[in-house]
Amino acid sequence: MDVLRNGDRFYDFEDVLKKIREYEIATNTNFYRRDSRTIAAARKRGIKRNIKPELLFYSITFACIQGGKTHKNCSSGKRPNQRTFRQHCSSSISFLLSSDGHYLELKSINNGHNHDTSEALFKQLPRERRLPKEMTKEAESLISLKVNKKLLRDHLEQKTGKKVSLKDITNLQTVIKNRSKCHDVASLVKKLLIDHGTIVELFASEDNVLQGLFYQDKEMLQNFENYPEILFIDSTFKVNNLRMPLYVFLVEDSMGQSEIAGLCFLAAEEQQLVDHMGNLFKKFNPSYQKMKMIMADKDFIERETFRSVFPHSSLLICRFHVLKIFRREITVEKMGITSSQRNAALELRKLISQMWFMHYGFEFDH
Ligand SMILES: [Zn+2]
Repeated sequence: MDVLRNGDRFYDFEDVLKKIREYEIATNTNFYRRDSRTIAAARKRGIKRNIKPELLFYSITFACIQGGKTHKNCSSGKRPNQRTFRQHCSSSISFLLSSDGHYLELKSINNGHNHDTSEALFKQLPRERRLPKEMTKEAESLISLKVNKKLLRDHLEQKTGKKVSLKDITNLQTVIKNRSKCHDVASLVKKLLIDHGTIVELFASEDNVLQGLFYQDKEMLQNFENYPEILFIDSTFKVNNLRMPLYVFLVEDSMGQSEIAGLCFLAAEEQQLVDHMGNLFKKFNPSYQKMKMIMADKDFIERETFRSVFPHSSLLICRFHVLKIFRREITVEKMGITSSQRNAALELRKLISQMWFMHYGFEFDH
């Protein structure tokens, strides 16, 4: 019998996750949350019915990790290799809140994968290969004892039943090496603090592992103070040997030039850390209250989290995505509008696109 079928009902979001996991194992695939609308977001759009809070979502779609949305010409091409893993597989599973608000219902499921779904390949998927925490610890202590790499790999494979490559072991070695380098953080902070008025804020996890570094010198503080209306945020990867993404805060000065208003390294692009970063920015920049807009790259996964720290600012994305969202979200069903209203909205979209065309000389419409 199929693990998941149309019409399946779930009374708790936890159960959805459990079932998705069962489905992944049964079909040798991995899924990620692609689109979702939380209950809170649905409320903002006027959904009035009683909703069981355990459901968390009004709607949610999981997509095969080898699918993914295609991003056409919007990107600058600076990160050309990021999506090599994706093969445009269209397999996905969508859930929607029931009309009585009591459960999430499986609305559509597309089982068709355009790639191999053998068990051997499944075990190679990054998420499947991740070692459990206690095993990572054991591996790390064995590495520090200089155990032979191949022996260690066999040992880990045997113990976890997962596929472990020699490259994984090398990566672990690098992590350990970098950790010892982290002791230098204290001296780095000292260096950064030489200038009077510079802000350096470190944050660490409970077990004292560095989670982030927030930095603003006097000039950056002044830049934001002078031009607080719109804050641009962008992340860059691979700029340091700890592999921590670097977030750059920018403002636009009166000449239309960008000025740096702050920098922050994070251990990972995670909700909690992004939230903390936003709060630090707020703490040191009281002018955030004058901020009207945040412009964030579509690749900044936790952009919504960041924005939620600044509830009075609106979040902007680039033109290309605006047009795309127009087409996807403005439908008779989703907005509860008549088809002539919808056509009017799409006319407007066309106009916007044409305006850009006149202004920039090329069209963003796809
Ligand atoms: Zn697939």
